[in-house]
Amino acid sequence: MDAREQLRRYLEQRRELGETDLALDGLTVEDALRILGAKSASAAPAHNAPMVRATEPPASPESADWRNALRQAGASPDEMPAKKPAAPDPMHAEPPTVPAIALADIPGGLSVGTPAGELFGGELGTLRSLEQIAAHVGACTRCTLYSTAKNPVPGEGSATAGFMCVGEAPGATEDETGRPFVGAAGQLLTKILAAIELRREDVYICNVLKHRPPGNRNPRPEEVTACSPYLIRQIELIRPKVILALGTFAAQTLLNTTLSIGKLRNQIHRYYGVPLIVTYHPAALLRNPSWKRPAWEDVKLARRILDNSPPTIAGA
Ligand code: URA
Repeated sequence: MDAREQLRRYLEQRRELGETDLALDGLTVEDALRILGAKSASAAPAHNAPMVRATEPPASPESADWRNALRQAGASPDEMPAKKPAAPDPMHAEPPTVPAIALADIPGGLSVGTPAGELFGGELGTLRSLEQIAAHVGACTRCTLYSTAKNPVPGEGSATAGFMCVGEAPGATEDETGRPFVGAAGQLLTKILAAIELRREDVYICNVLKHRPPGNRNPRPEEVTACSPYLIRQIELIRPKVILALGTFAAQTLLNTTLSIGKLRNQIHRYYGVPLIVTYHPAALLRNPSWKRPAWEDVKLARRILDNSPPTIAGA
């Protein structure tokens, strides 16, 4: 992929996530995309349109040599101002030049469980692989959801993922396919992951519930109780470096709290020792695009935690 194409994809991802202000040395995302000949935001694909799947992670603008890319695309020096003042945007609390808060200064949040694999030996402790968990989920009758669902949706991704996404429950498309987050919200999740340079296949994606509640009704407490051991065992086996809880339901269930998502964001919680970040559900972002900006901050924070986590020691 050439530098221009890499740059175009990078900018489109940021626009998709609601980032409109200074992106490249004084150019707005929209200005830079216009110079590159991309469609304007109004003509850009709708959020639920088929996703342009990056076959490789987007390079950073620096490594893509964005200045050359813009020049090759015909930008005149006039179109590349040295610095243009940021347009005030009430949605953005901070100008983009404000340095990120040090991870150590981000408040610690709730803590559930202890880090020491205390659940090993529990009722699912004999399940030694994600495949074994999936097989159990496929035969599960611990609650009634299996009887109305078309397929179990245990989860998918890398068994050694450092980054784990946990949503609420499968929806219609997930129920049809047996795969998590593959409908409209899932396509947005894939884009969000690509924007932090993660491929779907390199993370682990699953839900609190492994079968679809009929008509997408809210999960019932007894269903959560019945299904939670699968999720906990998945986390035990994968041992991710960070968990991204998608939406109120996943966040409240994992953290065993009734606090609102607004109160749970911007903190580093712990789930059995694993740092856990709370963000909006992608389906909520499709309904409320103005939440994309704060969600972008959340996923960047989760990515920083992943980048700053100590390397895994084999066999540890
Ligand atoms: N919403 C979820 O919470 N999970 C899915 O897998 C799909 C939509």
